[in-house]
Amino acid sequence: MGTLAENIRNIRNTLPPGVKLIAVSKYKSSATILEAYHCGQRIFGENKVQELAAKAPELPADIEWHFIGHLQTNKVRQLIPHVDVIQSVDSLKLLKEINKEAQKAEKIVQCLLQFHIAGEVTKFGLNPVEARALLESAEYQEMQNVAVRGVMGMATFTDNIPQVDQEFATLQRIFTMLKTDYFAMDETFRELSMGMSDDYPIALKHGSTMVRIGTAIFGGR
Ligand SMILES: *Cc1c(COP(=O)(O)O)cnc(C)c1O
Repeated sequence: MGTLAENIRNIRNTLPPGVKLIAVSKYKSSATILEAYHCGQRIFGENKVQELAAKAPELPADIEWHFIGHLQTNKVRQLIPHVDVIQSVDSLKLLKEINKEAQKAEKIVQCLLQFHIAGEVTKFGLNPVEARALLESAEYQEMQNVAVRGVMGMATFTDNIPQVDQEFATLQRIFTMLKTDYFAMDETFRELSMGMSDDYPIALKHGSTMVRIGTAIFGGR
């Protein structure tokens, strides 16, 4: 591990143009996040509503905050004022709640649909059938305060590279299918959020447009 500045620079140097780096700052202090900010990092990801809501107000306003954790509907209200992108939408019920609270706050929240691509049953996410039902529902089509920008997924936590490779390939296929069937005319549907510290080079081979990296930037917890 190098310094924070070196880690950010080294990772950036490996990313193709246009791929966004989400610095996953969970468990890290606002002071540490500010240090990364001063290295030019502007997008941060958190996986707990309480943590994001506590940190965002004390940090620069031009930070783009992404929520990447499992989101319960009863926490949406607390999250909305602070968040720019919710990457972990895994049900119509949740998207409805996000839309409702975003409307009250007079903002449009960008969202990614999270897919379950890993072998582990503990991970959250939609399957393609559920995603189609969501996108075809009258309720979704009436929503004015959410903007679905793409998909997100987490591969299995394993050393088995062919398995991870296959899981990212699956998410890329899901992305292409949804793009073709529901968003062909919408060029803002373009995000494929996949890849973490240990597996992002594999995700990049499958067209990732957003990598979510914590440990390789900030070190272990
Ligand atoms: C923690 C987390 C990451 C970052 O993981 P690292 O292995 O520390 O890079 C990415 N995505 C999600 C959803 C996470 O919870």
